[in-house]
Amino acid sequence: MTALDLIQNISQALYVAIFVLAAWRYLRAPTPAHLDMTAFFAILAIIVVETRVAALVGATPPAWFTDVLIIAILALPYILLRLVDDFTTVPPLLKRATELAFLAVSAAVVLLYQPPASLAPPITIGIVVYMALISLYSGARFVIASRRSHGVTQRRLQSISLGAILFAVQIVTSGAAPLFAEPDRTLLSGIGQVIGLLSATTFFLGFTPPPFLRRAWQAPELRDLLTRAASLPRLPSTVDIVRELERGAAGTTGASARIGVWQEDESVLRFWPPDANEPRDVAPGQHFPGRAFEQQRTIFSADPVKDDPQGADGYRRNRVGAVIAAPITAGGRRLGVLVLYAERPPIFAVSDREITQLLADQAAVILESRALIDHAARVRAREEATRMKEDFLSAAAHDLKTPLTTVVAQAQFLERKAQRDPSAPSDVQGLQRIVREAQRLSALVTDLLDAARLEQGKLISEREPVDLGELVSSIVKRQQPGRHATELDVRGVVVGAVDRRRIEQLVENLIENARKYSPEATPVRVAVWQTNGEAHISVRDHGIGIPPGDLPRIFERFSRASNVDDRKFHGMGLGLYICRGIVEEHGGRIWAESELGKGSTFHVALPLSEGRRLN
Ligand code: ADP
Repeated sequence: MTALDLIQNISQALYVAIFVLAAWRYLRAPTPAHLDMTAFFAILAIIVVETRVAALVGATPPAWFTDVLIIAILALPYILLRLVDDFTTVPPLLKRATELAFLAVSAAVVLLYQPPASLAPPITIGIVVYMALISLYSGARFVIASRRSHGVTQRRLQSISLGAILFAVQIVTSGAAPLFAEPDRTLLSGIGQVIGLLSATTFFLGFTPPPFLRRAWQAPELRDLLTRAASLPRLPSTVDIVRELERGAAGTTGASARIGVWQEDESVLRFWPPDANEPRDVAPGQHFPGRAFEQQRTIFSADPVKDDPQGADGYRRNRVGAVIAAPITAGGRRLGVLVLYAERPPIFAVSDREITQLLADQAAVILESRALIDHAARVRAREEATRMKEDFLSAAAHDLKTPLTTVVAQAQFLERKAQRDPSAPSDVQGLQRIVREAQRLSALVTDLLDAARLEQGKLISEREPVDLGELVSSIVKRQQPGRHATELDVRGVVVGAVDRRRIEQLVENLIENARKYSPEATPVRVAVWQTNGEAHISVRDHGIGIPPGDLPRIFERFSRASNVDDRKFHGMGLGLYICRGIVEEHGGRIWAESELGKGSTFHVALPLSEGRRLN
C-alpha cells in the first residue's frame, strides 16, 4: 500500500465514522442542523462505500446509480451552505441562487456525461468553480460566525471554517487533476487526498468534537471561573456576583448567559438585564427559567418561539434560536436559575447541558455563601440595633437619674426641715434647686421624645412664612445676659416657610451649646442672611472647640466629643441630633466648623422657597 493509499483509507474511514456519529446524534436530538450534518457525511460515506464495493466486486454500477451519486456530490456544497444557515443566517437570495446553480450543473452532468469518457473541460471547470465558490463562501461565513461567538463554540466554528476552506481547496485540486497529464495528474489527486484528510479531520473536530476535546476547549474559561469563585461571594452586591457568573457561564458555553435570583419574600425570580436599568421579574412556571425553577430540572428548547409562545416576540427580536435553563439549587434550597440563550441550537449538545448543570451548581455554591454572608450581616445589624437600644436606655437612665437624685434629696431635706420646724421660713434656695433640676429633667424627657419622633420622621408640623431675622433676634433678646454677651447680625429680610416652633428650638439649642461649651465672658455671635436662594443662620463661639476626628460624628445620636468632660458639661448627646432632624425635615443642611481650643461655628442653610414642602 502506498502512502497515498493509506491517506485515502484513513480519510475514507474518517468520513464513515463521522457519518455514524452524526446519524447517532441526529437520532438522539433530531434538529435541522443534525439532519444537515448527517446528510453531508452520508453522501461522503456513500461515495466511499460505493467505490469500495465496486472495487471489491469489480463491477461497474448501473448508469442511473452513477448519476444519483454525482448529483449527491454536487449537492455537498449546497448542504454545507445549509449548515452555515443552521449556525448563522444566509441571505435567502443566495440560497435560491445556489439551488439554481446546483440544478443547472446536475442537469448538465446527467445530460452530457457519457461514461467511461471524461467530461468536457469547460463543464469540469464549471463544476469545480460552483463547488469551490460555495465551499469558500461557507468557510468565510463560519469564520465570521466564530469571530462573533466565544468559548467552545468559537473553537468549534473555527475548526469547521478551516474544514470548509480545505474542502474548497480539495475540490479545486482533485477537480483540476483530470485536466492534467501524468505524472501531474497523480500528484494533484494525491495532494487533493491529503487536503481531504485534513478537511475531514477538522470537520470531525468541529461538528462532532469528542468529549475530551470539548472539555479541553471549555477548560480555560471554566478554570478561570473556578479560580475567581472563591472571591465572588464578597463582591459588593448580589448584582455584581450575578454579572460575574453570567460572564463566566457565557465564556464557558459560548452562549449568552442570564442568572435569575429567587426572591423569597416576593416569590419571583429576579434578573438584572445588562442593557436595562430596571430588574426584570419572572414568576415560577413562566417562560423557560420559571419552568426550570418550578420543575427543578434542566429544560432545553431548540424552538423557543414554539415552546414558549408568550415570549415569542422577545426571542425573535433577540434572535434566540435555542434556550437551556437549569435550576440553581444548594442542598434543597432553591436559589435561582441559569439560562443560556443561543442563536442556533447545534451548540447545545448533550454535554452542553451537563456543563450548564455544572455551572448552575457552581453558581449555587457562590450564591449560597453570599446568602450566608448577608445573613451574618443582618444578625450583626440586629445586634447593633439591640446594643443601640441598650446604650440608649443606659444613657437615658444615667442622665435622668442625676437630676432626679437631686430633686428627691432636696425635697426630702425640705420635708424633714418643715416637719422639724413648721413655722420656719421657706428655703427659697432649696426650692429653686428643685425647680431647676425638675426643668432639666423635663428638657431631657422632651429631647427623648423628640428623638423618638425624629425616628418616625414626624418632627416638624405646620409650616408658615416666618421672618427668620425677627425670630432669631427675639430669641437672642430672651437670653439671660449672664456670663456671655450674645451678638446679633441680621442682614436683610429673610423669610422662609418653616415650622416656627422647631426653628426656634434649633436656634435656642445652638446658642445654648455655644454658651455651654465656652468660657465665661466670651461672646456668642448669631448671624442671619440669605445667599443663593437659601436662608443662612450661623452661631459662632470662642469655646473649647471640637476635635477634628469627632466633628463628623457630633450630629449622631448620643454622640459627644472626646474633649467634653461628662462631670463638667451635662448632656446626653441628643441636641445636635434633633437639630439635624429639624433642618433635614425642612430640606436644609447643617454643618459645623471648629478649631480645637479656639471655638466653633454652626451653620444652618434652609431653602427659602416653599418648593420642597414635606407635609
Ligand atoms: P450635648 O450637648 O447634650 O452633649 P449635643 O448633641 O448638643 O449634645 O452636642 C453633641 C456634642 O457636640 C457635645 O457633646 C459636644 O461635644 C459637641 N458640641 C456641640 N456644640 C458645641 C460647641 N458649641 N462647642 C464645642 N463642642 C460642641
